Amino acid sequence: MAARARRRSVAANIGGVLVGGGNPIVVQSMTNTDTADVTGTVKQVRELAEAGSEIVRVTVNTEEAARAVPPIVDTLRMLGCTVPVVGDFHYNGHLLLKKYPEMARKLAKYRINPGNVNIGKKHDDNFRAMIEAAVENHKPVRIGVNWGSLDQALLTRMMDENAKLPEPLDAKTVTINAIVESALISAAAAEKYGLGHDMIVLSAKVSGVQDLIEVNRKLAARCDYPLHLGLTEAGMGMKGIVASSVGLAVLLQEGIGDTIRCSLTPMPNGDRTEEVRACQQILQSLELRSFTPQVTACPGCGRTTSTFFQEMADQIQTYLRDQMPVWKTRHAGVEEMKVAVMGCIVNGPGESKHANIGISLPGTFEEPVAPVYVDGKLDRTLRGDHIVAEFIELLNRYVERTYARHSIEVGV
Ligand code: SF4
Repeated sequence: MAARARRRSVAANIGGVLVGGGNPIVVQSMTNTDTADVTGTVKQVRELAEAGSEIVRVTVNTEEAARAVPPIVDTLRMLGCTVPVVGDFHYNGHLLLKKYPEMARKLAKYRINPGNVNIGKKHDDNFRAMIEAAVENHKPVRIGVNWGSLDQALLTRMMDENAKLPEPLDAKTVTINAIVESALISAAAAEKYGLGHDMIVLSAKVSGVQDLIEVNRKLAARCDYPLHLGLTEAGMGMKGIVASSVGLAVLLQEGIGDTIRCSLTPMPNGDRTEEVRACQQILQSLELRSFTPQVTACPGCGRTTSTFFQEMADQIQTYLRDQMPVWKTRHAGVEEMKVAVMGCIVNGPGESKHANIGISLPGTFEEPVAPVYVDGKLDRTLRGDHIVAEFIELLNRYVERTYARHSIEVGV
């Protein structure tokens, strides 16, 4: 992995997962089940964790949800799933944390939105009650400011002050500044109420990429709390993935960000784990972390008129993903493997040579042979109807001999 200068921050311990302090950038996600549905929520938390989410957040919005948290966490642990479960609170968190102490104990962290708990208004008792619950239970807190629910009293005050300036800033800049202030004021208040400096994570979420970059640059410059990054309400499908990727990539490249989430809107009945894989791909594309072998595949063009190589690239990508739960327990470093699947000889051999193992399929009018390169050298040439199966067999053998076996196979 490429060494990258990271912004200096303290490390917060979230149920055994260290966030900040130079530790690997943590992937997190959030369920979209009704938390009161214990079975459904346990199932989705497990799916997210198995996909690679290192922290999973659940909403704790009602008394039923609060009551469901202990059985959710207990069932997960019974099933061997150790992922920290974080509670997301709005409006009534101060009441729920007090009324359901077992829930407060079982959660690994509380997410508090200061815009929704009265901080900044005359009375900040609700915020204080939540922080005191965190202190009592030794839990870290994420103070998550979201511009859809920004503290309106603070924003109004800052807008009024700005209006009196000889050269007022535009309203958007004042709003961005208010998000930063809200996070920092809340963090200072939390420390005043007894929460340790290393028990606080901050986030400032907006739905525009440029705003996300600006607000996090400003926040990063003014504190050493770990930062959680995410484009809020990123959207569906390609729009959500691309917008999240470009926003997070700029910040991560600057060393800003200690944990990330892609807030993708799944299709109805869609796969919630997509947001986990998107986070992993962002980190792996930036060479910040490795999660799974990467397939380099050309886009195809008029030189390859059949869909054979697209199907092969897809089959190999799927095969690699399916093998990883087992491979990663057996073979150290296999997640850094690069595999090339190329459509013809124009770029095929060259790209294959850069991969650990690569295959270059025959393009239209080319001789029906597929040269395989291993560690930069031509290893053999495949031909016939079983090229995919034979290449996968070569792949298996490559993994077996190249990536040392862990002395003790670790649990999945
Ligand atoms: S490698 Fe060949 S098939 Fe693939 S895009 Fe390049 S020229 Fe086209």
